[in-house]
Amino acid sequence: MSLTRATLEALDRTDPLAHFRDLFALPEGVVYLDGNSLGARPRATAARVAAVVEREWGEGLIRSWNDAGWMNLPARVGDKIGRLVGAPAGSVMVGDSTSVNLFKMLGVALALRPDRRVIVSERRNFPTDLYVAEGLAALLAQGHTLRLVEPEELPHAIDDRVAVVMLTHVNYHTGAMHDMAALTRRAHAAGALALWDLAHSAGAVPVDLTAAGADLAVGCGYKYLNGGPGAPAFLYVAPALQERARYPITGWLGHAAPFAFEPSYRPAGGIARALVGTPPVLSLAALEVGVDIALQAPMDQLRAKSLRQTALFAELVGQECREWEFHLVSPTDPAHRGSQVSLAHPRAYAIMQALIARGVIGDFRAPNILRFGMTPLYLRHAELWDAVQALRAVMQDGEWERPEYQARRAVT
Ligand SMILES: *Cc1c(COP(=O)(O)O)cnc(C)c1O
Repeated sequence: MSLTRATLEALDRTDPLAHFRDLFALPEGVVYLDGNSLGARPRATAARVAAVVEREWGEGLIRSWNDAGWMNLPARVGDKIGRLVGAPAGSVMVGDSTSVNLFKMLGVALALRPDRRVIVSERRNFPTDLYVAEGLAALLAQGHTLRLVEPEELPHAIDDRVAVVMLTHVNYHTGAMHDMAALTRRAHAAGALALWDLAHSAGAVPVDLTAAGADLAVGCGYKYLNGGPGAPAFLYVAPALQERARYPITGWLGHAAPFAFEPSYRPAGGIARALVGTPPVLSLAALEVGVDIALQAPMDQLRAKSLRQTALFAELVGQECREWEFHLVSPTDPAHRGSQVSLAHPRAYAIMQALIARGVIGDFRAPNILRFGMTPLYLRHAELWDAVQALRAVMQDGEWERPEYQARRAVT
């Protein structure tokens, strides 16, 4: 039986998460399928940031570092994110970007395995992860190498020369999800550490760092956590490793006594040594609003809706766009699928530009991927219908062939 808009509307009427949509401000006429790249704006963010600007900063001035709890924000928001990813209180810290946190966590990992020189990752990992690894290896100048393989080759690539297995849980390109527990076990069996990038996982798919035995992790604040553009990222260090962790960036706020202004570095205890410099208070306040919303949504319901929406979207493309050569790149097996659908098409860039002009916002990833992120907190099922009808219209009328959709812009 083929799907209709009415079928999808019926799903919206019984959706236990439907009321979360009202917590977000989305423009009229937009179907937003890019929350995996920049999450939508929670309505409460503007008032919260305004209060921090006007009262805490404007009136409290420097007193607010103590009185408004600013100093504690990175750890407080970290503990909240920890609840979303199976990390105990005192094991997650928020600050810096995902790229910088990767540098820190990779540095910690390599220092914990001083006699090993190999970093294993996936050839199609997000480039910043690989660039950061290359850069750190060059800086250390101790002969560290990056061993990049295809996902199916991973178990065989992990041997007793490997210091750390650095993987992104859900691949940005394909939406494929690794078995975190199994690969972490494999890493540990070889004596290596496991470092997970949760950029496309936190707030989108179930993650249990503790149950998986993960050693280190990083993740992003502006994707499914809806923290706003450039929101600070987070990092995780397993409690058992915290006192042994040596960070490659030793800033004053990670010092045991920052306000003693000692001339030489002594690490703070626990996760506090992960802090580097002064926290970005305005961005942290905005991020906390997004995280608080995610904490209200039961993860089993989020996951069920996300899997339903990704499956429905793929099915609708098959049903409505059969005559064009869209190739489903994302896994059909729900156990291996994150919260996005990637379609390959030779003219993907221009097609996506034409879709965006119609208010259906996804994105393009080189060389040929149309990427559609499903954010179950605020995406309605009926919008999937509208998105696929827009795709059909763009193809049918050759709309994508217009010259203005061909020129590559800086951000794709
Ligand atoms: C989005 C993303 C990042 C982003 O890093 P920034 O430092 O925030 O630019 C890093 N890694 C992965 C896997 C990502 O998906």
